[in-house]
Amino acid sequence: MAEIETSKVKIAQAPPGFEGPGFFATSLDKAIGLARKNSLWPLPFATSCCGIEFMATMASTYDFGRFGAERLSFSPRQADMLMVMGTIAKKMAPVLRHVYEQMAEPRWVLSVGACASSGGIFDTYSVLQGIDKIIPVDVYVPGCPPRPEQILEGVMNIQKLVHNESLRRRNDPEYKMLLASYGME
Ligand code: SF4
Repeated sequence: MAEIETSKVKIAQAPPGFEGPGFFATSLDKAIGLARKNSLWPLPFATSCCGIEFMATMASTYDFGRFGAERLSFSPRQADMLMVMGTIAKKMAPVLRHVYEQMAEPRWVLSVGACASSGGIFDTYSVLQGIDKIIPVDVYVPGCPPRPEQILEGVMNIQKLVHNESLRRRNDPEYKMLLASYGME
């Protein structure tokens, strides 16, 4: 068996807590945040070309599975990260909103690419000019299309939010206000 060069081995940073030999303590929300951020279940809502970049992100070169998020869900009830990738026609907007509403809390939204974020080059009567007109968005990924590296960076930014968020975001007054601004409870 080939020997592993120890200089190439990176040791992951332990989350903040009280450490000692054979002893580690942290708060429950930090432990849950750590578990949540490394076990996201994405729901890919891919409607056009950005979806192809997502397929590349899933494949072996970029290997989305490294982030603990390889288990895609095509059921909103078993997903916690909605990834919207592609042009969203106004006719499709109610469907996207319905999907979002069916997701259980806690849930996060990643808007991938110019079309999902702003309508992109389709400044036209039939295209929704950004999904944040109908649902709240946590992280935007720029580009037309964004490279898989950018999509991964977007997911990592979602992970940061997930890690640092309170256990019950739905009880947060700010979050409630945000949902209320979209006419949701
Ligand atoms: S942002 Fe560009 S690549 Fe992505 S769906 Fe729109 S036109 Fe296609």
